[in-house]
Amino acid sequence: MKTIDTINFEGKKALIRVDFNVPLDADFNVTDTNRIEAAKPTIIKVLEDGGSAILMSHLGRPKGQKNSDLSLKHICDKVSDIIGVEVKFVEDCIGEEVENATSNLQSGEVLLLENLRFHDEEEKGDETFAKQLSKLGDVYINDAFGTAHRAHASTTIVAKFFPENKCFGYLLAKEIEAIEKVMQTGEKPVLAILGGAKVSSKITIIENILDKVDHLIIGGGMTYTFVKAKGGEVGDSICEDDKMELALDILKQAKEKGVQVHIPVDVLAADDFNNNANTQVLDVDKIPSGWQGLDAGPKTLKNFKDVILASKTILWNGPIGVFEMENFANGTISLGNFIDQATKNGAFSLVGGGDSVAAVKQFGFEDKVSYVSTGGGAMLESLEGKTLPGIAAILE
Ligand code: AMP
Repeated sequence: MKTIDTINFEGKKALIRVDFNVPLDADFNVTDTNRIEAAKPTIIKVLEDGGSAILMSHLGRPKGQKNSDLSLKHICDKVSDIIGVEVKFVEDCIGEEVENATSNLQSGEVLLLENLRFHDEEEKGDETFAKQLSKLGDVYINDAFGTAHRAHASTTIVAKFFPENKCFGYLLAKEIEAIEKVMQTGEKPVLAILGGAKVSSKITIIENILDKVDHLIIGGGMTYTFVKAKGGEVGDSICEDDKMELALDILKQAKEKGVQVHIPVDVLAADDFNNNANTQVLDVDKIPSGWQGLDAGPKTLKNFKDVILASKTILWNGPIGVFEMENFANGTISLGNFIDQATKNGAFSLVGGGDSVAAVKQFGFEDKVSYVSTGGGAMLESLEGKTLPGIAAILE
């Protein structure tokens, strides 16, 4: 891997693609600084070597138009606080003024460019725009996992103008390592836990993952398509009838590949999709009409606990119940506790993709698992087995 540690930045200007797409409140205060903190080690490495850092990012969806609400100037002070260096700001990301600002940049200084997406060439992956960006630095560092699945100018195309001088930042390298640990080098038994709402959105992941894991837990709304396909009664539970054949095919493939699949045996069912609905625990394949499964039941959680505690490598994607409603969050919280326990016993645990990260943060498991991915879509595409363009561009 071309990591940042292989380069000495003394006297060099590092053009760093970071992901500072952070949430702002109505007064433009940053309400979650995780992404800025995540980029800090890379920036500090450049500065400590005696280099300077030019930070580029997008913020929100300005769709190629200037929009002062989405200006990165709002976050400049917060970035300064976190990095511990006063960050300068320039009101564009290409052009003469920007080139002047970067050429005057001294060792130890940091410059933040204006929102890349104020130019529609960014998302189009425009080569001329990428070339203009490339003029700003001597070395290109990609440290933005959240956009690594996009072939945008600043995430992918720009790399070709640095054939010898490009590398991954620490954050992106950590993401790549975490995915490799699960998909290639993880200690066995390897377990994937896939929850979430629909089989259709997870099918490519399931198919890719069957070659990599020893155990597969299927939970959440996906459960009912499998249960109905096997002849069970799922009442009003979420179910994709047109995916039932696919579900049977997945089970067949898993058997052929020696993957043990674990599906809920009981559920907490409700008589309405509502936190205050009446509830009862039912066998997963005997849910009468008028009832729907919204969380995993106690026997299921006991089974899942045994599998999780016996695993050495764990991937978790997707909640196993409707965790947004307090009365149906127990399954997802319990799962987090089991993974916490397994991690304490020495397992490597990775949480990533879509809503699982939200669930993990909401219930405070962030520091209890080995790694929480910073990229929803990028992680999903990695789990699907796709090579992300932002990563390929550094490796080329
Ligand atoms: P995904 O984005 O595919 O990971 O799906 C996450 C969503 O799945 C969350 O909003 C959960 O509320 C939902 N979910 C999990 N279990 C169920 C269930 N049994 N019925 C309906 N939705 C569910």
